[in-house]
Amino acid sequence: MARASCPCLRMAKVKKSERIKEILHRLLGMFESGDLPQAVARTMIRAKAGAERPCDRWSLGNRLLMLIHGTEDARGLKQWNAVGRRVKKGVKAFYILAPRTVKKVEKVVDPRTGEDREEEKQIVVGFRLIPVFRYEDTEGKPLPEPSYDPPEPPPLFDVARKFGVKVEYGPGDGSCYGYFHLRDNRIKLHTHDAKTFFHELGHAVHHTVRPLKGGQHADQEIVAEIVACALCEMYGQRGFVSHCWEYVKSYSSQEPQQALKAVMRVLGDVEEVLKRILEMEAAEPQGERGCAA
Ligand SMILES: [Zn+2]
Repeated sequence: MARASCPCLRMAKVKKSERIKEILHRLLGMFESGDLPQAVARTMIRAKAGAERPCDRWSLGNRLLMLIHGTEDARGLKQWNAVGRRVKKGVKAFYILAPRTVKKVEKVVDPRTGEDREEEKQIVVGFRLIPVFRYEDTEGKPLPEPSYDPPEPPPLFDVARKFGVKVEYGPGDGSCYGYFHLRDNRIKLHTHDAKTFFHELGHAVHHTVRPLKGGQHADQEIVAEIVACALCEMYGQRGFVSHCWEYVKSYSSQEPQQALKAVMRVLGDVEEVLKRILEMEAAEPQGERGCAA
């Protein structure tokens, strides 16, 4: 039975066609449930971050399959071994699909000369199942931390630093695009959108105006969102205003007059936060301005 512990061998027990059917079914379920946009956004963020992991070069469908299996890094047995990790005993593989292609030579008529010529085409004739294992099911050498930083930092990135706020980019669990951690004075971002950075910077600077309450409070959210919206306008990040309004309404009232009232109530804070941000932008860099952490 020693060999049976090799997880690859389990594949033979289940018919290949059934497995492919199951995989496609799962993907379809994701489309139907509406989970897809969020999952796609998440995978996009990962892919943009660089090609440190093999799955960054996978097709979108395979990356979604990976998320369905509750992991953000899956690799083949040899790929794990190559980075000094082993698959734990008794662990099951899951399968991704690789297209099986054949080369076919076709005769086509050249539109310019009208003569026949041969053209080589890759035709997908089926799928190959590739067993992969979740990072969580492996053990061994720690993996190097990949960098998720955007290719270019967003405008005002330096202002966060001047306020002593640490900004980190990293994958999220899909529940939000970012957050400001009060106690650590730290912004965590799951997207490269400048607007989300502005929103969290709004929270961070609002906290210097008056101590914020933990969690999501309507007034705090409205301040951060309007600050973000104003900064988007000022720094040429177009296309966020309608989203801002929807967000404000979701924290106040769907009735525009009521929502507007909620905005008016916090405009003083919005103004103060913007003032502090712009003053800090103009201020000389102060490397020694430490953060509370
Ligand atoms: Zn917020």
